Amino acid sequence: MSNLARENEAINLSQGFPGFDCNPKLIELVNKHLRTKNNQYAPMPGIQKLREKVVQKTEELYRLNYDAETEVTITAGATQAIFTAIAAMVREGEEVIIIEPAYDSYVPAIELAGGEPVFFQLNPDDFSINWSEFQKLVNPRTKMIIINSPHNPTGSILNALDMMRLEKLTRNTDIIILSDEVYEHIIFDGLEHQSIARYPKLAQRSIIISSFGKTFHATGWKLGYCLAPANLMAEFRKVHQYVVFSVNTPLQHALAEYLDEREHYLELNAFYQQKRDFFNKLFVGSRFTMKPSTGTYFQLLNYSAISNDIDVDFARELTIKHKVASIPVSVFYHKKKDSKHLRFCFAKEENELEKAAEHLIQL
Ligand code: PMP
Repeated sequence: MSNLARENEAINLSQGFPGFDCNPKLIELVNKHLRTKNNQYAPMPGIQKLREKVVQKTEELYRLNYDAETEVTITAGATQAIFTAIAAMVREGEEVIIIEPAYDSYVPAIELAGGEPVFFQLNPDDFSINWSEFQKLVNPRTKMIIINSPHNPTGSILNALDMMRLEKLTRNTDIIILSDEVYEHIIFDGLEHQSIARYPKLAQRSIIISSFGKTFHATGWKLGYCLAPANLMAEFRKVHQYVVFSVNTPLQHALAEYLDEREHYLELNAFYQQKRDFFNKLFVGSRFTMKPSTGTYFQLLNYSAISNDIDVDFARELTIKHKVASIPVSVFYHKKKDSKHLRFCFAKEENELEKAAEHLIQL
């Protein structure tokens, strides 16, 4: 869709990246560390100071203490961490439960590892999980369950009850939870992110993945991290070592220093909530309908009052004729299920969001 947007000079609200730069302070820190000879290989799990900062942040926010030596690894973004975790844990014939609509990197990683994706569908009306139905998918071949909250593409979140159901469901099993928490700092309306790290019993069997790219408006840096108990992390590192060995050294030093100031991640909720509200208000009175996003920088819009076209065709038409690019939600389903939803990224400047809405509300 980004290519189509470029070809058609459309406003690109498709791909999930901020339309503004990261904080100049962070750039300064990178410059500083480039100049201070921090340009050689970092230690395999990441530089000590950054791992310690991640531990500190996790403890402050979610009250669980990870060991910086053995339970944290800095990765080349969340995508590498997801791939590495799956490659390290999943073997031929083992099943991994995925909740659809789902981020696109899970299935290929499972299939490359010889595993079998098993698909569970979110409730199409409110994007909640029916745990009684979910339970029916769990069996002795279930190796892993992947969760993602705040959720791409629906903008929904898991609540405390969901986490308790997950804990109950996996009690007395060897199932590993892979928790994709890349949008942990983008959550709205006073709601709290239910990190796995808030649930010590779940955390004992879980791998948490997060991304500095999402949090610090620097998706192009491809830096993230992984948290897991030492036994799981040891397996993770056996693969990590031969996938990347270690990741960008000066950026790690810069991020470690930047994390000294907590407001750099704590202010993100309010920042993006304002953008969500601004974007959603522009559609009041239009024929698009929506359930306001509660997290991430995505908003789904339903267009069933406007067209009967399948979402892929409608998204193409919007891009080519109306000059606004979005992502059709069917691409997040293995069976390409069409629910007449398009995903819009509102991590953009207000004038860009305004211009996009001007085109769309005429439909
Ligand atoms: N998980 C989800 C749910 C995402 O939306 C993304 C980015 N689109 C990633 C993982 C990958 O993050 P990174 O850019 O750090 O690899």
